Amino acid sequence: MMTPEQYIDSLRSQKKEVYFMGEKVENVVDHPAMRPHINAAAVTYKLGTEEEYQHLGSAVSHLTGNKVNRWTHIPQNQEDLVKKAMMLRVAGQITGTCFQRCVGMDALITLYSTTWEIDQEMGTNYHKRFKEFLVETQNNDYMTDGAMTDPKGDRSKRPSEQHDPDQYVRVVEERPDGIVVRGAKMHQTGAINSHQILVMPGMGMSPEDEDYAISFAVPADEKGIIYVFGRQVNDSRKWEGKIDQGNAKYGVVGGEALIIFEDVFVPWDRVFMYKETKYTGKLVDRFASYHRQNYGACKAGNLDVLIGATASLAGMQGTMKASHVKDKLSEMAHLVETMYSGALACSFNCSQNGCGTAFVDPVLANSSKLNTARYYPEVTKLAQDIAGGFVATIPSEKEFENPRVAPYMHKYYSTGENVDAIERIKMGRLVENMTGSTPIIECMHGAGSPQAQKVVLQRSINWRDKMKYAAEIVREPETSPSK
Ligand code: SF4
Repeated sequence: MMTPEQYIDSLRSQKKEVYFMGEKVENVVDHPAMRPHINAAAVTYKLGTEEEYQHLGSAVSHLTGNKVNRWTHIPQNQEDLVKKAMMLRVAGQITGTCFQRCVGMDALITLYSTTWEIDQEMGTNYHKRFKEFLVETQNNDYMTDGAMTDPKGDRSKRPSEQHDPDQYVRVVEERPDGIVVRGAKMHQTGAINSHQILVMPGMGMSPEDEDYAISFAVPADEKGIIYVFGRQVNDSRKWEGKIDQGNAKYGVVGGEALIIFEDVFVPWDRVFMYKETKYTGKLVDRFASYHRQNYGACKAGNLDVLIGATASLAGMQGTMKASHVKDKLSEMAHLVETMYSGALACSFNCSQNGCGTAFVDPVLANSSKLNTARYYPEVTKLAQDIAGGFVATIPSEKEFENPRVAPYMHKYYSTGENVDAIERIKMGRLVENMTGSTPIIECMHGAGSPQAQKVVLQRSINWRDKMKYAAEIVREPETSPSK
């Protein structure tokens, strides 16, 4: 397994084509817009290798018997799924943001069982290929970018009906030694700091969409892959200083990028699904359930940080003893623990796929993500309420270097003898950073928009049984009660 430092160093030798704000980025690792996200991903390596966290962050590979990082492990039982959720909460508490590596983890888990199922029915050999890829991933402790979301063009049309055939990633050429792919994947968390990309279809497909029903892996710096790194609200603060960023070490959300596949060659041994449209819906649903399990855990960890920042501000500002503040803090904790209980519940109530992989309860996993999309903004509102309006009006940290106003900054941003103005502003900036639009939008749409979870619930809930329970209760008793 790699240490955090080894992981960061391993990225230096990659030759990725990355663009940000109209310019090519030669050094991703030390770029101020990207480094915080790399630090956050490095925490997954910390959990894998440091003694304090290894009971959660490492696992024994069922394929090799080797100790591997849990972010590359295929869950074999209930304990593995529960530990996955616990590990994500801890990583969320350390970083206060997205640590990115779970999308790839869930792609590995999903493809492990899906390739096995395709082979059982179709007589293909995807699973053997995939196992070789997985062992290489585990042995080298690679970070995998799980790439699912296509640009999608006109949402009312299927991939093969689009005005532009590249709106979904597709195969454009078949060769004796492999395939050539074209298209793009959007909003790719951790893409610029991953070692490899694992592409999956982004929706259930019909037979006419067969060129789009593909799954494959490529090294992240493969020829023909272009990355366009996304902007975030207030991101210029990243190269202006430290305090105003709020979370200078780990950033906000996952450092997402657009990945463009400009006719990229993929050898056959890295192709894990090829035109089997029948399995695309199952793959997407399965991946979504694993990733929705996570949201109740990683976001709970993030919100533990926000609760801490809010309580610290209340302490500094003399409002901690106010009964409405105590009430709001306990409401925040209640919402966070409700989110986390969903992540644990779907892990405890798991089942086992044919190949032995443990699978979360999809109804509970989807409910957990839906709760997270609903409660995260609630918790941020309560944080803003307690923290106070100063969070939205703090002057630049540069004013502390401005001799004319610096003494006044210290004087008027301090709230008491023992309250340092800069320490208070740092907490205020952390609250501002964690309650701003970027994390709230990410929380709503990451792992699928709320409507996607409702569709799964509509499809999966046994409505007939529920009606039967009600009918049973209102049914006339067979014998009248004695008077
Ligand atoms: Fe992991 Fe959460 Fe980020 Fe998804 S949003 S990659 S589960 S930290």
